[in-house]
Amino acid sequence: MGNTADLIDEIVIQPYWVSIYFEDSCRTSGMLLTSYGLFKTMRFIQSINNRLARELIIDDLTKVHNRRYFYQHAKDAQHSPYVILIIDIDHFKAINDEFGHDVGDVMLKELATKYDNAFTHQNKFARLGGEEFGGYLPTNNMTQACDFSQQLIDLAHTINVQNSRHLTVSIGVAMQTPNEPLDKVVKRADQALYLAKKSGRDRFEIAP
Ligand code: GH3
Ligand code: MG
Ligand code: MG
Repeated sequence: MGNTADLIDEIVIQPYWVSIYFEDSCRTSGMLLTSYGLFKTMRFIQSINNRLARELIIDDLTKVHNRRYFYQHAKDAQHSPYVILIIDIDHFKAINDEFGHDVGDVMLKELATKYDNAFTHQNKFARLGGEEFGGYLPTNNMTQACDFSQQLIDLAHTINVQNSRHLTVSIGVAMQTPNEPLDKVVKRADQALYLAKKSGRDRFEIAP
C-alpha cells in the first residue's frame, strides 16, 4: 500500500498526510508483519526439525529408543569395557497366535515401558526390532550385570498375558574384551542368548 501511494504520488498530487504519514506507516507495518511472519516460519521449521530428530531415534510402537539410537550411543559413549544384553521374549509367536497381534502389541509396550524405567543412570535400553531388545551397561562388573539381568527376568514375570500366563524373557550377556568392536560384542551376546534359549529359556547366559 505504501508503494502504491508512492506511485500514485508521481501521477497525481495527493494530500500531504498521504505522502508523508500514510506511506511511511504502511511501510513500517509491512516490515513488522514480514518480520513476524519470518519469525513464525522459523519457529515452525524448528519444531518440525525437533520432531524429525526425535522420530529418528524413537521406536514407533513402544516409544522407547530404537536400534539406531542404541548402536550410535554404544559407539559414542566411549566407555570401556561395557556390557551388552540382548533380551528376547520367549515364545512370543505363540502369544500372538493365541491372543492376537493386538494383544502382542500391548505386551510389547508394557514390557518396553517397564524395562525402560529399570534402566537408570548411564544404562541404556532400546527395542532392536520385533520382540528383541538391547541393553547397554557401561560397567566392568559382571556380577552387577548378571544381577541386573536377573532383575529383568523377574520383571517380565510381573507382566500378565490376559490373566492366563506371564511373560518370560531370555537374555544373552557379553562384556567387551579389550579393543573388541561393538558388532563382535553384540554377536557374542547373541550367541549367549541362543544358549539361554536352548537351555530352557526364562534365564540369562554369559558369553565366553
Ligand atoms: P523364541 O522363544 O525362540 O524367541 O520364540 P518366539 O516365538 O519368541 O520367536 P519367533 O522368532 O519364532 O517369533 C517372533 C514373533 O514376534 C513373530 C512375530 O510375529 C512377532 N512380532 C515381531 N514384531 C512384532 C510386533 O511388533 N508386534 C507383535 N504383536 N508381534 C511381533
Ligand atoms: Mg522370541
Ligand atoms: Mg526373536
